[in-house]
Amino acid sequence: MTLSVRTRLAMWSGIAFASVLLTLGVTAYVFLAHAAVEQTDRTLRQQLRAVRVTLRSTIASAALEPSDSAGIASVARDLRRRGFDVAYDSRAGLLFTRPPGVAHRGDEPQTVLAPETFSTAGVPAAVLHTVQDRTAIQGSRASTRGFTVPGPDGGIRMALDTATIGARRIVIGVSEPLDEVDELLGQVRGTVLIAVPVLVTLALLLGYGLAGRVLAPVVAMSDEAKGIGVRTLHKRLTVLNSRDEMGQLAGEFNAVLDRLDAALEQQHHFTADASHELRTPVAIIRTEAEVALRADARTTAEYRDALHVILDGSEQLSRIVNDMFLLARTDAGQAMITRNPLYLDELAADTMRSMTSLATARGLSLALVVPSEVLYDGDEALLRRVLANLLDNALKHAPLGSTVTVALDESPDGCRLSVTDLGAGIPESALPFVFDRFFRADEARARVGGVSGSGAGLGLAIAREIAELHGGHLSLREPGEHDTTFELYLPRVQHV
Ligand code: ADP
Repeated sequence: MTLSVRTRLAMWSGIAFASVLLTLGVTAYVFLAHAAVEQTDRTLRQQLRAVRVTLRSTIASAALEPSDSAGIASVARDLRRRGFDVAYDSRAGLLFTRPPGVAHRGDEPQTVLAPETFSTAGVPAAVLHTVQDRTAIQGSRASTRGFTVPGPDGGIRMALDTATIGARRIVIGVSEPLDEVDELLGQVRGTVLIAVPVLVTLALLLGYGLAGRVLAPVVAMSDEAKGIGVRTLHKRLTVLNSRDEMGQLAGEFNAVLDRLDAALEQQHHFTADASHELRTPVAIIRTEAEVALRADARTTAEYRDALHVILDGSEQLSRIVNDMFLLARTDAGQAMITRNPLYLDELAADTMRSMTSLATARGLSLALVVPSEVLYDGDEALLRRVLANLLDNALKHAPLGSTVTVALDESPDGCRLSVTDLGAGIPESALPFVFDRFFRADEARARVGGVSGSGAGLGLAIAREIAELHGGHLSLREPGEHDTTFELYLPRVQHV
């Protein structure tokens, strides 16, 4: 079962609060219990002191020789006369006393201390045994430190001391029932047991309420986000406070929407431009075929002409489709390059050779300026395509009789390949767009199409993508007075 964030926050705050409360409660309880027993022990020590002082003066004033049980009994009697409650255990030589003014409670009935007997008949057996055991173990070194023995109605706190009566050393015992302490601690336990669940429930409710308040902007954002779709991508989330975390989240989400919106817009343009570009060759092919089929009889030459037109249209179509396919793959991050060692100077010479007839047909010459062999790790087919696209453009725009120059040079970091023509150049207004897809600065001339380019305004866009796939870039050099130069930079691959 998955709980909502609100419930989980409330639960965590409840658990944290309960832990703090329990730790505090247990610490306070232990401290209180310890302090209460300490207080009882202090009282016992005071009692022992009072008994000892009185015992000393009793012995002195009685001028007895109380070395036997009878003598001790008479000391006990005297103590009794002075207001002490006394009980005597002859076997252990143990005198249970209680100073005057100390009230009896609970398990120490008056009868135990009846003056006639001074017996320990009413002293709880457990008390007697424990004290006898201790006295036996400790002998004359009875400790005044308190200890607890079980009584019939709860614990009894005791302290022992020794005194000498004549030649006999006896043990004096005082005790205090712990029932009041137990009652107090019981009350504290009861209060804690009631208070903790009540306070934890309150903390849970408070935590739930607070979590609701904290998460309210998130709920509002998710409600707003539900209303944003492909058709409403212009909508944005409301940013209540751009400085807090929720505001930053909304801001980041809006930034993602901005990028998505821009990408979708670009996609729409691309689709619209693509269908526009495809429509022309399709229309040419279709019209040519319809015209050829309409007339009953046509000469073979007429059919051949029609088929030539259809073939040109088809080639134009397939060039556009190939270009679009490559761009779609680079957009999707699926375009792979296969790097192999190749000589860029040979690649340039080869490509130029394949375009020589086109150059000659246009009355142009081609020149290659290469310092020496230029070895580079790259994708041969794709690099050939870049150079062909650049040459195609240069041949289209170079003035009759001029020379189109391809220059190569290399540095330890990479290689630079440039294509220069002496044409009229690119109008300043078109400069920011030359690398855009389907952009044509000069519609009439470009639509012709060349050996490599489709003439659909995709040549430079593709060349730039290929440069970037190699980690390099394609740029238009600051145009001179009478020349246009496109420059391809290819960095060397760092082998590790
Ligand atoms: P196309 O495939 O139509 O040639 P490109 O992307 O290669 O498209 O070029 C885009 C536009 O940039 C061209 O239509 C042309 O107007 C302009 N252009 C490209 N190269 C040159 C050049 N060497 N001289 C003048 N204009 C150029």
